[in-house]
Amino acid sequence: MTTLSLGTALITGASAGIGALYAERLAHRGYDLILVARSRERLNALAKRLTDETGRSVEVVVADLGDKADLRRVEALLRSDASITLLVNNAGIGATDPLLVSDVDRMEEMLALNVNALMRLTYAAVPGLVARQGTLINIASIVAIAPEKLNGVYGGSKAFVLAFSQSLRHELADKNVRVQVVLPGATATDFWADAGTPLEYLPSAIVMKADNLVDAALSGLDQGEFITVPSLPEIADLDGYEAARQKMMPNLSLNIPAARYRL
Ligand code: NAP
Repeated sequence: MTTLSLGTALITGASAGIGALYAERLAHRGYDLILVARSRERLNALAKRLTDETGRSVEVVVADLGDKADLRRVEALLRSDASITLLVNNAGIGATDPLLVSDVDRMEEMLALNVNALMRLTYAAVPGLVARQGTLINIASIVAIAPEKLNGVYGGSKAFVLAFSQSLRHELADKNVRVQVVLPGATATDFWADAGTPLEYLPSAIVMKADNLVDAALSGLDQGEFITVPSLPEIADLDGYEAARQKMMPNLSLNIPAARYRL
């Protein structure tokens, strides 16, 4: 049954894994969709299923967000489509090997997608989200705050997503734009095989099903959370982390060195 539209959600990396589940959940919530990824067939199959199930309008945009021309095309869409009220910056790739055995070209490819594409799409989308009081969801990772766990460039790319989101939340505080940054832990998707460590090598106790992950992240959004860490049992731990950051804030830039550095 078609319900009142909440506007259009543009989801990157919507052909598989976490992005495809966001597409499903958001269509059922009443969003029309624009699905972006490289695999035309998978996008078309998902679009057909979701239109059949929900009656929502689902547009497919085949684009490699690591490619400059394709990225500019999606940016132009974000600037021109006045129905877009939600951007889910989800497309990303990972790596699990340490520096000494990693291919630097693959690292550059990862930064192009995880950092540059996310940044450019956000710049393209935010003016419209401000105008329409929309929502921005950035998919980071727990490695944003625990970079020792996987490849350091991947961790650094997700630390960028977290820092950029923190800054945007601050900049847009009086603009009625919701900003959420999601920090998934290990989630059962193709990500792991593509990153170099098939899922079977991970202890099952640390791997969440992708549908549970997306449902938890959307629950965090509904609760008005800014940072959502779906597996973290105690929200007080996250609050304490933020409180420690805020406590340092007034003293991070002073005109004299701390006493311990004075000779
Ligand atoms: P996934 O199943 O591998 O899906 C990745 C999606 O991104 C696919 O739809 C893929 O589609 C798309 N994509 C990849 N390269 C692209 C490109 N150059 N241009 C456009 N689209 C591209 O992985 P996932 O686990 O759902 O990952 C989604 C996000 O969650 C990523 O940002 C990832 O860093 C983050 N995350 C994942 C985990 C985890 O454990 N799975 C944990 C923390 C964070 P095409 O191949 O069709 O382009």
